[in-house]
Amino acid sequence: MERSLGELEVIIRNRICAVCSERTLDGNCGLEDTGACALFRLFPQVAQAIQSVHSDDINPYIEAIRRMVCPVCADQAPDGSCETRQQVQCALDAYLVLIVDAIEEATGKTFDRQALNGPGASQPVTLGPPIQ
Ligand code: SF4
Ligand code: SF4
Repeated sequence: MERSLGELEVIIRNRICAVCSERTLDGNCGLEDTGACALFRLFPQVAQAIQSVHSDDINPYIEAIRRMVCPVCADQAPDGSCETRQQVQCALDAYLVLIVDAIEEATGKTFDRQALNGPGASQPVTLGPPIQ
């Protein structure tokens, strides 16, 4: 099922922001700089990564996000490491499984969860405290 960028963003916002630890009681993002959320700051790249894959296996989607989103994110270091990810401050990484759930909703696919490993494999996830 094809989805527009706007449709995908609405589906993923509804799913992820609703459970994100940064969300305020009035339903808004509590980040001081809402542009700091890599998931939506880089949403066109996230959607492009998702739409570049046609598989019922979840791993190619995860790999596509790592390959197509992280390298254009200002938070990634030249060596490919990411402090934000290590501190569980990246919603894209922390809520990866839920994002995949949203992808399923958008595309009607069912992924093989047995193959899922790494960050985002367990839930619920609480984004870590800001670095002092
Ligand atoms: S940090 Fe990102 S995922 Fe969390 S509420 Fe804000 S915009 Fe939504
Ligand atoms: S894991 Fe790091 S480099 Fe990748 S999108 Fe998140 S903050 Fe950016």
